[in-house]
Amino acid sequence: MLDLLIVGSGPAGLSAAVYAKRANLNVLILERVYCGTGQIAESSQVDNYLGFIGINGYELGEKFRLHAVNLGAEFKPGEAVSFEAVEKGWKVQCSNGDMIEAKAVIYAAGAVHRHLGVPGEEEFAGKGVSYCATCDGAFFRNKNTAVIGGGNTAMDDALYLSEICSKVYLIHRRDMFRGSAKTLEKIRQKENIEVVTPAQIAKIEGEDRVCSVELDNGRVLQVDGVFVAVGMIPQTDKIKDIVNLDDMKYVIADETGKTSAQGFFVAGDVRTKPLRQVVTAVSDGANAAAAAVEYLNHE
Ligand code: NAP
Repeated sequence: MLDLLIVGSGPAGLSAAVYAKRANLNVLILERVYCGTGQIAESSQVDNYLGFIGINGYELGEKFRLHAVNLGAEFKPGEAVSFEAVEKGWKVQCSNGDMIEAKAVIYAAGAVHRHLGVPGEEEFAGKGVSYCATCDGAFFRNKNTAVIGGGNTAMDDALYLSEICSKVYLIHRRDMFRGSAKTLEKIRQKENIEVVTPAQIAKIEGEDRVCSVELDNGRVLQVDGVFVAVGMIPQTDKIKDIVNLDDMKYVIADETGKTSAQGFFVAGDVRTKPLRQVVTAVSDGANAAAAAVEYLNHE
C-alpha cells in the first residue's frame, strides 16, 4: 500500500510530490494527461511567479515536473473515478480498471474551462471555437477574433491575440471588468482591440468553421475565431460524496488542505481560497504534503 497518492500533476500536485518525497514517503502521482503539468502549460507568459520573470507557462511546468522527477517521484497515467475510505486508508478506482490503495490522498485535480452553452459552441469546438488563446492563437494570424469574458484570462488573451490577429473583439457581459485595471489600461491603448460591453453571445455561426457571432443586442461580428475565457469549473464531481463542497463546488479546506474526510487532502484550484494562481497552488501542495506527513505519523 502506498503512503500517499497524489491525484493531478499541476503545480499543486508536483509541489506536494516534492515535499512528500523529501519526507521519504512512498508516493505515486496519478495524472490524467500523460506527462502533464496542468493548466499552466496553456499560459504563454507567467509574470507573477517569484523569481521567473516572464517565463513561458509550459517551461515553468516542465521545471516543476523535473524537480519532482529528480527526487524520484513516480507517475502513472490514469483518471481516478471513485474513492472509497477503507480501514487503513483509501481505495482509488481508475477509469482503466486499475485499483490503487494508499494510506492518504492529496487530490489536486484542478479545474476545467467553463463553456458558454450557446448554440454553435459545441458544433464549432476546434473549428474556430477555442478555450486556449496561447495554444490556438497562431491559427488566427491576420484574422478577426472574439474573446469572451471579463476576468484576467480574457483580458490577457485579448492582449496576446492583438499581436497576432488583425482585430480582436473583447466581449463582456458587464461594463465593469473583473480583471486587473492595469491590463485594462493596456487593452484600451490597443488600436486593434474593440471592447464590446455589455454584451453576451447569442449564437456562434459558420459553415465548416466559425464565420461570425451574433450578440444578444442583435449585432453581428464577422470573426474566424472565438476564444471563450469565462472561468473554470473545479474538478470535484468525483469526490462530491466524500468531502464537503461549497456552493461553487470547491472543496472546503483551509491552507492545510484538510477536508471533511480523514486522510483525504486537497491542494490547488479545487479548494476554497481567495486567489487561484501558480504561487498559491505550489504553496497548497507543500502545505497539504506537510499535513499528510503529520497525519501518517500519527495514524
Ligand atoms: P474569472 O476571474 O472567474 O472571470 C470569468 C469571467 O467570465 C468573468 O468576467 C465573468 O463575468 C465571465 N463569465 C462567467 N460566466 C459567463 C457566462 N456564462 N457568459 C459570459 N461571461 C461569463 O476567471 P479567469 O479569468 O479564468 O481567472 C481565474 C483566476 O485566475 C482569477 O483569480 C484570475 O485573477 C487568475 N488569473 C490571473 C492571471 C494573471 O494574473 N495574469 C491570468 C489569468 C488568470 P462577471 O465578471 O460578470 O462575473
